[in-house]
Amino acid sequence: MQGQQELFLAQLHSAQNEIKSLRDKLERAQLAATLDGLTQVLNRMTFTRLLEQALGSGQPGVALIMLDIDHFKQFNDQYGHPLGDRVLQHVGEVLRNAISPHVTVARYGGEEFCVMLHACRDLDNAWDFAEQLRLKVQALRIKARGTDQLLDRVTASFGVALAKPDDTLESLLTRADDALYQAKRNGRNQVHRSAWK
Ligand code: GH3
Ligand code: MG
Ligand code: MG
Repeated sequence: MQGQQELFLAQLHSAQNEIKSLRDKLERAQLAATLDGLTQVLNRMTFTRLLEQALGSGQPGVALIMLDIDHFKQFNDQYGHPLGDRVLQHVGEVLRNAISPHVTVARYGGEEFCVMLHACRDLDNAWDFAEQLRLKVQALRIKARGTDQLLDRVTASFGVALAKPDDTLESLLTRADDALYQAKRNGRNQVHRSAWK
């Protein structure tokens, strides 16, 4: 009788351990599914869901920053894709370091990233934040692996838009993207804000 009880307790203990291990695995898999594998910032799907939620909740001071690395195709052509990937990781790290309860960061696609600001005072405030990021990207010094050779400087162009009460996901993304396009047209390595104040 006592032997059976001990066996039962041992089986129960083992089952509990198994459940805990599966739960941990599930949590890790759920987290991994929200992230971009290369840069470890949020992926596009998760970001758009969060942005949609923020707009839907009517919280004031939502701003969107879109940034795109300048002449990245040329960089890849000159140094190769693996070094291009390292640049993306470095830029991702700059953005990751800016994450706070008021700052959400994602890789939106290729060499394009998005930053959502919450509780942003105004468009100037969002512009300042983007400008700080631009300076940090410009200050990156990346070396070729295993050598002291510094690679060409990396820069990025930024578009900033502040959400209006009637903005949808699409309209806000479009205004930030248009501002980014203007930053490119004006000569790159700069922040452009969307016309709407
Ligand atoms: P612009 O200043 O106008 O943005 O020029 P660009 O060369 O950066 O823009 P373009 O859209 O012509 O090229 C983007 C390049 O980004 C092309 C593509 O090979 C590269 N790219 C996209 N995703 C990745 C990636 O995951 N890794 C690497 N290494 N390169 C990528
Ligand atoms: Mg691009
Ligand atoms: Mg680019």
